[in-house]
Amino acid sequence: MTTALHEIAVRQIKGVSAQKEQELHAFGIQTVADLLDYFPFRYEDYRVRDLAEVKDGEKATVQGKIMSTPSLQRYGRGKSRLSCRVAVDHMLLTAVWFNRNFLQSQLTPGREITITGKWDQNRRQVTVTDSEFPDKGTAKTGTLQPVYSVGGAITQSWMRKTIKQALEQYGSMIPEVLPYVLTSKYQLIPRREAVMRMHLPGDAVEGQAARRRMVYEELFLFQLKLHAFRAQTRGKADGVTHTTDNETIRSFVKGLPFELTESQKKVINEIMYDMRQPYSMNRLLQGDVGSGKTVVAAVALYAAVKSGHQGALMVPTEILAEQHGRTLDKLFSPYGIQIALLTGSLGERRRREILAGLQMGLIDIVVGTHALIQEDVFFRSLGLVVTDEQHRFGVNQRSILRRKGMNPDVLTMTATPIPRTLAITAFGDMDVSTIKERPQGRKPIKTYWVKHEMLDRVLGFIRREVGEGRQAYVICPLIEESDKLDVQNAIDLHIQLQQAFPDLKVGLLHGRLPASEKEEVMRLFSEAETHVLIATTVIEVGVDVPNATLMIIMDAERFGLSQLHQLRGRVGRGGHQSFCVLVADPKSETGRERMQVMTETDDGFEVARRDLELRGPGDFFGTKQSGLPEFKVADMAADFAVLETARDDAAEMVTQPDFWERPDYTALHQYLMREQIFQGELLD
Ligand code: ADP
Ligand code: MG
Repeated sequence: MTTALHEIAVRQIKGVSAQKEQELHAFGIQTVADLLDYFPFRYEDYRVRDLAEVKDGEKATVQGKIMSTPSLQRYGRGKSRLSCRVAVDHMLLTAVWFNRNFLQSQLTPGREITITGKWDQNRRQVTVTDSEFPDKGTAKTGTLQPVYSVGGAITQSWMRKTIKQALEQYGSMIPEVLPYVLTSKYQLIPRREAVMRMHLPGDAVEGQAARRRMVYEELFLFQLKLHAFRAQTRGKADGVTHTTDNETIRSFVKGLPFELTESQKKVINEIMYDMRQPYSMNRLLQGDVGSGKTVVAAVALYAAVKSGHQGALMVPTEILAEQHGRTLDKLFSPYGIQIALLTGSLGERRRREILAGLQMGLIDIVVGTHALIQEDVFFRSLGLVVTDEQHRFGVNQRSILRRKGMNPDVLTMTATPIPRTLAITAFGDMDVSTIKERPQGRKPIKTYWVKHEMLDRVLGFIRREVGEGRQAYVICPLIEESDKLDVQNAIDLHIQLQQAFPDLKVGLLHGRLPASEKEEVMRLFSEAETHVLIATTVIEVGVDVPNATLMIIMDAERFGLSQLHQLRGRVGRGGHQSFCVLVADPKSETGRERMQVMTETDDGFEVARRDLELRGPGDFFGTKQSGLPEFKVADMAADFAVLETARDDAAEMVTQPDFWERPDYTALHQYLMREQIFQGELLD
């Protein structure tokens, strides 16, 4: 048998050094198969257009002839502006290059040129991002170029080159995974061809056919995994039966610093009912930001521990892990319950200590990022896994735990309302509990929308709230596709605000800070040592500092509605009146409508409904906001019909009595086994 592509390290591709290989690991790319499946998220269109059809502000490729000798202006610090006149379709326009002075000698009058850039109709000018000379060959002109998500030392052009190389070396070895019954039924092109066309679509039609095939494959395999797992576990009363009685829970609840809302009590009852059953629970808990989901999780974790088991709380960020660790510690320390934090940034020694503690049962509850359920983590008796804020606990992890002989109850918490039918399709069989109200005494958050020119008054607002003993967040503008620029923005704003408020303490938090520093910044803010916190969207979910009452969001039009709502949910978490100020000059109609919606309602379910209206389902479900699984190629809403078809196909297939024997399904069996799902149980 030939070696499979997922067994060949990327290092084997020509041009991939040991160092580049390391850097690819950061993108989850280890093997040739991983790299070939690393699809572009969009394409750059270098097809030559008719200038008359290009709209103002649009980016396009046009072809023409150079009509003047170029002129070059230099500024300080090696910056330059190079321009010349180009005749395109009987129109004379100005082509401008920034910082490409080396091109000057090549811009000779009379020479043909292809330019790609943004068209400014008024000035009849193209700001060129790419240019080619037909007499020297045109590699890009006329094509759709893939655009990959890259960063660090991996550049766009390196990625393009390397994937092209990988296709040349290994393209012919790409195996088919779908059985003939399916490819023929839906007339899907072979996988090999589809993968090539995903990276290098000759034209839009080929690209479409490739995408159609990959979408079906992705959704079908996902559903197959779900259904194979379900077939394996269906009706098995092999979960943990928690035994904690109502009296014990009631006395714990009495010790809480506040009275639970009716909604919280109701969902706790639903959860407790499930936990006492011998079947394993799979429940979704939804409730708006600030509705108090954490304490519900705490009660469930308490019940698990009192039943003699351990609990795990999984969160998406280390900041949130720290915070939940502190909260639970406060609630549980009077009961002698041991809590540990397990995150990626722990030292090796501490990590080993915790792993040993979990295995021996010295630790009752562990809070952490996804590092928590990895292969080398063993529990003495894991009874409950809670996941917070869109951090999914998937079939794979459940399956790994089952193989270790554990089959805990699972509670998934989210602030985004997900319809039950969708939840079932996306996660498998799932029950849903909803918290419908916020704790008593909460005042609605007052939300204002202001223009940038009002920034001075916004700063005055900060001063007033801080003067009252409160605290404020300032969220930095978000720049698409660039974590680096986000960070720079935050740093600039931090300097600016420090100057504006020399007497106040202004903190700074962004994703590139080392974990220990993030933790320190967050601790200072939550203990009111800093008055104002400048942050990128790293604080988007879950962060809970009840004394903060002012949320200022810069360039708010750049955020989606559900994201704005999440950010706003960082305030209004205590008894004080809270405010949210959106600083925005939206150019688009939908941008203005989003600001409008935010000022009109602070109810998350209503925001979600309006979001759906404004953006259409495609965008709503396609974002990570939704808490639904993220796919590489497929889009939850645009491809929802395919998802349903794939679900039916998968369900039908796994119930075939000879499913595990059929030779035409061999590739599927191999896929399931790679995904840790086996025929029958515990095949070690
Ligand atoms: P979310 O649902 O957004 O995760 P949290 O669980 O973080 O919300 O709760 C928000 C804040 O409300 C926390 O400070 C929490 O202590 C507080 N809280 C939760 N339940 C209640 C309640 N029943 N009464 C008063 N405050 C509560
Ligand atoms: Mg929360």
